Amino acid sequence: MDIKSAEFIVSNSEVSKCPNNNLPEYAFIGRSNVGKSSLINMLTGKKKLAKTSGKPGKTQLINHFLINKNWHLVDLPGYGYARVSKSTKKTFQKFITQYFEKRKQLVCGFVLVDIRHDPQPIDLEFMQWLGENLIPFSIVFTKADKLKPKAIENHIESYKTILLEFWEDMPNYFVTSSTKNMGKDELLGYIDNINQS
Ligand code: GDP
Repeated sequence: MDIKSAEFIVSNSEVSKCPNNNLPEYAFIGRSNVGKSSLINMLTGKKKLAKTSGKPGKTQLINHFLINKNWHLVDLPGYGYARVSKSTKKTFQKFITQYFEKRKQLVCGFVLVDIRHDPQPIDLEFMQWLGENLIPFSIVFTKADKLKPKAIENHIESYKTILLEFWEDMPNYFVTSSTKNMGKDELLGYIDNINQS
């Protein structure tokens, strides 16, 4: 899929205020600093569409972007900040779970994980929760340029081993690098296929 247009639509702190139309929606989520903004910018070909870096935890909103005038890319807040209070974490968790539970337009969630790290409880718990709630999701491994192919394989294998303890199949996954434009065609092709079906 070629991205012909990508425009910011709205930021929301409440799921009920998100755009009220039937456009299919794809949501990106992951721990702060995982490379989510960079990935969104790579996918859309717009360097500044999503803000990169800055202070983790600043973008605690649901951000809607309209792509090619026919689907929404949603930038969800990063989870798992070290420096916020327990109550902030709780409020936040509620906010994210509400989005996934209530947003009927959601077609697929993309859970981003840094390929360099071993599977982390917070990511695994979140995937587990999505699975239990029958919310479709794919895994997006980020920063693949930082590892050699063999190490990439090993890290994916360790995810498989853990996830297959709970589920029959490994979720669909993508290996990406925003600095190398890697995984872009696969991810956009996947979205395009669903949109066309
Ligand atoms: P976010 O907090 O998840 O939105 O993460 P950002 O997109 O702001 O990226 C966090 C940091 O990781 C920044 O310093 C980026 O330059 C870096 N980064 C993001 N994606 C990649 C990637 O694919 N490769 C490499 N080497 N660095 C990346």
